[in-house]
Amino acid sequence: MRFLVLSDIHGNFEALQAVLADAPMYDSTICLGDTVGYGPNPNECVDAVRSLPGVTCLIGNHDLAALGQLNLSDFNPFARKAAVWTDAHLKADVRAYLGSLTPSKQAYSMHLAHASPRDPVWEYMEESSQGPPNFAAFSEQTCFVGHTHVPRVFENDSAGQARVYTAKHGHSVTIRSGSRKIINPGGVGQPRDGDPRASYGLLDTTSQTFVFRRVPYPIDRTQEKILKAGLPAPLAYRLASGL
Ligand code: ZN
Repeated sequence: MRFLVLSDIHGNFEALQAVLADAPMYDSTICLGDTVGYGPNPNECVDAVRSLPGVTCLIGNHDLAALGQLNLSDFNPFARKAAVWTDAHLKADVRAYLGSLTPSKQAYSMHLAHASPRDPVWEYMEESSQGPPNFAAFSEQTCFVGHTHVPRVFENDSAGQARVYTAKHGHSVTIRSGSRKIINPGGVGQPRDGDPRASYGLLDTTSQTFVFRRVPYPIDRTQEKILKAGLPAPLAYRLASGL
């Protein structure tokens, strides 16, 4: 089975379209949440995601915020403004769809969490010290997470120590090599590793590989829409730096 693995689209329809045009054949889709928030096309992105083949989708902290289900004082001022804007613009059926989702889930013998296995809404998984408690929080071989917008792999060895590294375009991970993994495909709509190209991945459960992919998209078009919508300007500018 081949899975398209997406996360953190953040209302960036141009980035999502570029990913969908770039992705080779797949049977099913995993979307790890934060489909809305920051970007100017939340409805279009949710509509596109929910019509993808065999989609399993999570809700992220920005989706929860846009639904009024998260305390906005936990957000920085730009994220807060964008959450209020998104809340005001979401269609009723899109709200209902997002509201039906959970921030973590077991599917296809894998664990899926928006942020981390032990805290699926808020924890940013960045350091190797976060590996052991998070590997202990799920029982499957493999977990996929999003939230940091950085393509990254946590791997635990037989001694219970975790190794973490960031992954570039084309990097391939073997899923069953005797070690468990927590994999972040990076962010589609707001990458934060210094590479502004949309980030996603493809999981092939037959060859047992996960491949990280990057694809360029017309950033200037998204930036223009962000500014025109009256969303905070830094949310437009950061897309060009990928930070
Ligand atoms: Zn996000």
